[in-house]
This record gives sequence, C-alpha cells and structure tokens, in this order.
Amino acid sequence: MSMRDGLGRSVSADAQETQLPRGWDREADVIVIGAGATGLPAAIVAREAGCSVILVEAEPDIGGHAIASGGNVPLGGGTRVQQQYGIEDSPDLLFRDLTDWSVVGPNGFPDYRYNDREIIRAFADNSVDTFEWLVAHGVVFVDKAPDALGGTSVGNSVPREMHCAVMDWPMVQTGMPADPSVQKTRSSGNGLMRPLEVAAKKAGVEILLEHRMTRIHRQAPNAGPVLGIAVDHKGAKLDIRARKAVIIGTGGSTGNVNFRRMFDPRLTEEYCGLAGMPWSDQDASGELAAMAIGAALWGLYNQTGEFGANVTKPGSIGCQYNYRNLQWMPGSRVFDRARATGLRVANWQNVILVNMLGRRFYDETGGQFIANNYNSLDPYVPGSYLNAKNLKYEPNNFLNAALAGIDDGHNGGGPIWAIFDSEAVARENWRPTPPHVDLAAGFFFSANRLADLAEKIVMRYQRQPMPPANLETTVARYNSFVDSGVDEDFGKPQPMYKIATPPFYAAWATPVVHDTRAGLRINAGCQVIDMNGALIPGLYCGGESAGGFSQHGLARATCQGYIAGKAAAAAPPLEASI
Ligand SMILES: Cc1cc2nc3c(=O)[nH]c(=O)nc-3n(C[C@H](O)[C@H](O)[C@H](O)COP(=O)(O)OP(=O)(O)OC[C@H]3O[C@@H](n4cnc5c(N)ncnc54)[C@H](O)[C@@H]3O)c2cc1C
Repeated sequence: MSMRDGLGRSVSADAQETQLPRGWDREADVIVIGAGATGLPAAIVAREAGCSVILVEAEPDIGGHAIASGGNVPLGGGTRVQQQYGIEDSPDLLFRDLTDWSVVGPNGFPDYRYNDREIIRAFADNSVDTFEWLVAHGVVFVDKAPDALGGTSVGNSVPREMHCAVMDWPMVQTGMPADPSVQKTRSSGNGLMRPLEVAAKKAGVEILLEHRMTRIHRQAPNAGPVLGIAVDHKGAKLDIRARKAVIIGTGGSTGNVNFRRMFDPRLTEEYCGLAGMPWSDQDASGELAAMAIGAALWGLYNQTGEFGANVTKPGSIGCQYNYRNLQWMPGSRVFDRARATGLRVANWQNVILVNMLGRRFYDETGGQFIANNYNSLDPYVPGSYLNAKNLKYEPNNFLNAALAGIDDGHNGGGPIWAIFDSEAVARENWRPTPPHVDLAAGFFFSANRLADLAEKIVMRYQRQPMPPANLETTVARYNSFVDSGVDEDFGKPQPMYKIATPPFYAAWATPVVHDTRAGLRINAGCQVIDMNGALIPGLYCGGESAGGFSQHGLARATCQGYIAGKAAAAAPPLEASI
C-alpha cells in the first residue's frame, strides 16, 4: 500500500509505523540534538560551512555536562602549544597511544584494547585542527605547558592535556564568576562552553532551548534516510525536517537505569548521584531514538572495563549529587534540584562506610578504579608484552565491594552511608546543616545514639531498615581497631579515630555514575551504522552517545562534533539518496 510521507513522497506501509509527520513545523539543512561538547561544535562547523542549522537542547540553558566539567582537554597530535613547549607529538603517536593493547591497569584491565581503530584514527587526524578551531572560536586555554594531570591522560606517552580558562563567565556551579585572581588559571568547562555559545549565535545557529528530541524520523523503520526529528517543547510536539543531516550529541546514557544496566546489572536505581546532573540529564534518548530506526551499539567493553570514571567514589557526602569534582552552590540555577552542597571529605579516616545493614565492606581510604596508569608503567614500552608482565598487580575493589549488595537476592549494593561523630565534624570543619546537607530528601541523618541513628535512616533507596544492633556492633568493633591500630576486617591502614562523641551522623556516600563510554556505532566520519553494518543515511553521532572510544570526555566530544559538523555539511541533500 502506498502512502505519502512528511515530504509528500510515496512510501511503503512500513513508513507509517514510524509515525512520520503529515507535515513539518520547521526545517533546516542540519539538525543538531544537544548543546553540549559535541553539539555546539557540530552546529557551528555546519553553519559556517553554509548550512542552516537548528540546534535543539532539552534544558533551559546550553552546556550539558561539558559546562559543569573541569575543562581539561587532551587534544594532541602536535598542537601549537605542544610545539611551543618542545613536546614532540604527532597524529601517529596519538593513534598509537590510544590503541596500545598493552596498556593494562594495576587491576588487570586494559584501557585501549577494544578501541575502534577507525574512530581513533579520525580523532588522531583531527585533534590538532579541533584545538585550533576551539581557539579560533573564543576558547582561552590556560597559558602553560600541556600536562597529564587529569583522568584524560591515561596511556598518553607525551603530555597533551590543556585547560580551558574560566575567564569571567558566571559559573553554572555557583552562579558567579570565579575570583578575578584565578580567572586565567582555573580550568573549567564554563570557559569552554560559553565562548562556543557566543560563537554559535554569532554564526547564526538557531538554538531552541527546552526542545527535547523524542524521535528520529526515518523513511522506513530500517530503511532509507533520516528525515528529521520530533521534539517536545513544554508539552507541544513539533516535527523538524532535516534536509541534509541529523547529528546526535545527547551525551550518553548514565541517567537511564534500564539502559545502563544493559552494561552493568548492578547499577540499579540507588545510583542517583550522577556527575553533571541536575544541570543536564544523560537519559539515553539519542541512543534509543537511533536504535528505534536500526542503529547498532558499539565497543561495549569500554563501559564495563574497570578503569577510568564510569563509576566513581563520591567526593562529598550527605547530598545526592556527590561527584568529587563538582559541588552545586546555592547561587546555581539548579540548586533547587541539587538541594545541598554536600560535605567534602578531606580524609576518609574521619568516617566509616557501612552498607544498608550497617556493616562495613572495605577499607574506607580505598580508591576508585585507576584513571591515569601510564605513570604506573615504568618503563612503558609501547606495544610490549612487558608492560603487563612488569605491572604490579594491585586489585582495586572498593567500588566492587560497594556495589556487591547484601546477599538478599537483589542487584545493586544499596545505599552506602558514611558514619561519623561530632569530633569528625570538627576535624573536617564541616557544617552538618542545610544547605550543606540534604535532610529533606533523606540523604543525611543525625542522632545522639547510634541505635537511634540507624532507626532514623528511612529513605527511598533504603529498602531494608538498618538493624540498630548492627550499627552499634560495627562501630564498637571499629573503635577496637583504633585501639589496636589494626583493622582486622578490611586492612584500613592504622584506623585513626574512634566514633564515640555524639551527635552521630549518617551521610549518603553511595558511588556515583559518571562516564558513558559505549554508545552508537559510528564510522570515522561519525556516521551512524545499523545492525547490519550499513550506514543510516543522514544520521551522525559523537561524544558520549557514540561508542568505540575509551576516553574521558571533552577531547573526544569536541573533536567528534567537529568531524560530524564537517561531514554533515559536505553531505548531499537527503532526497538524493531516496
Ligand atoms: C563534573 C564533570 C567534570 C568533568 N570534567 C572533565 C574534564 O575535565 N575533562 C574531560 O575531558 N571531560 C570531563 N568531563 C566529561 C565531559 O564533560 C563529557 O564527556 C562531555 O561533556 C560529553 O559531551 P557530550 O556532547 O557527549 O554530552 P554533553 O556535554 O553532556 O551534552 C549533551 C547535551 O544534550 C542534551 N540532550 C540530551 N538529550 C536530549 C534530547 N533528547 N533532546 C535535546 N537535547 C538533549 C543535554 O541536555 C546536554 O545539553 C566531566 C564531566 C562532568 C560531569
């Protein structure tokens, strides 16, 4: 049976199942979904190449996780700044580093073995250009030699990481500019994304805020080109036609519990301390919309390998959004949703960590998975079997123990609580009251007796009451370890402080979900590929929603946005491929 699609063309009955629109509300050459580290570069590049561009963003402001990020960008391959500081780098060296099968972490997990060579080659070849492009579009980098400070430098054999200066942009974390004395030296994602927003507007990119993509229209469910997207704008549905391309830059899937559990069944609902949220969500909407029209996923090991920041130890306690490098302050536009700043932990000797049943599970000073293991390979010989052979095997199982659960048949480890007393509060200089802690939503409790504290812990994710006797026994046993100087249960080095002086506190300290490193299958040109290995004409993706590239964040996203924007602009009109 023949029907007409939204462009008035004749299509098969299959097309009707895709709910193609009867007409289009808007149209542009290129539609970009998501105004983050991928989407803004993609939109600007396509616009400057002569395309009309509509950029839809679900949130009321641009930026995505990128604007809340640390702004550390490991673009290398021989940038001008690397040359200036005598650092010898090249696209070939960058490619070799990011595909070196022999880089293995101290817990035995390889970082790069499963990277897609085609995708990494494209990154290596476009890295210098992306850096120059960012500078040309207003991003100011801190004036110093590239380094290897951040988690993005894993396996890098030369320093590549540069840092976006925050300048005088009001920061999304505080609502205020940084102190003038540090504006040129502090690295921040605000210093990356605000200049790109200005550049996008100047170039004539049309940015539609509070427009959430809900569907990607394709001619038929598994055939033909993409035609456009559907968006939700405050409850109203709009259909926007793309004449050349749709670019997905929606930022990954960590906020979608069902989606993330395809990679790791342990990551159940209680892992609600999502880095970068509540500024923007990573709800897998890009992946799901593309999968609904046939797209494949790619490089799934990169999501589950025990390296980097896919899951992290919290840095703050007593609040929901407790990623170690991000604190939301009362001046932030999203503070009503973040609800508390959290208490930063300077010394994990000041607390014990217990599970839902009030039992310790690991040495509290233990860390998360290693994120910069190049320096732990000494000597590092590229591609050599000796790298793994000479590595001192040091399993790092804090997170695995936290996620292990309580033997009740459920997936997920349940809440983890930091338990401490008033002397710890004094040592850490904490203020255990709102807005520093989140009492109202049940992420912080206090009581004068440990038994009462356990009974008070009632909140959404505490699916079993904490037996008061358990908490009392746990604390008494821990205090005996402080006396003896030996943690007989978990080997915490020299337990230092008893928990003995009321009031006592229980603060949310559950691990945080952070990076998405597995997503849609793309090729070197960031074109999305389907389950049969065929291109989906007109569909592109980059950043955390794309798979095949194990690297933390901004370099991957900005570079793939740059590649996708160029490729989309150069693509023929979509009708030509029908
Ligand atoms: C606290 C923190 C610190 C970090 N620090 C660093 C660092 O120093 N260095 C580094 O390299 N990386 C860092 N990262 C990671 C880096 O920020 C991300 O990897 C990067 O921003 C990913 O880019 P993206 O374009 O894929 O997604 P994002 O930048 O998150 O952008 C995605 C955008 O898409 C929008 N969106 C999602 N779904 C829809 C939809 N259906 N319709 C419309 N819009 C939608 C979102 O609202 C968002 O604005 C950090 C991240 C965080 C959270």
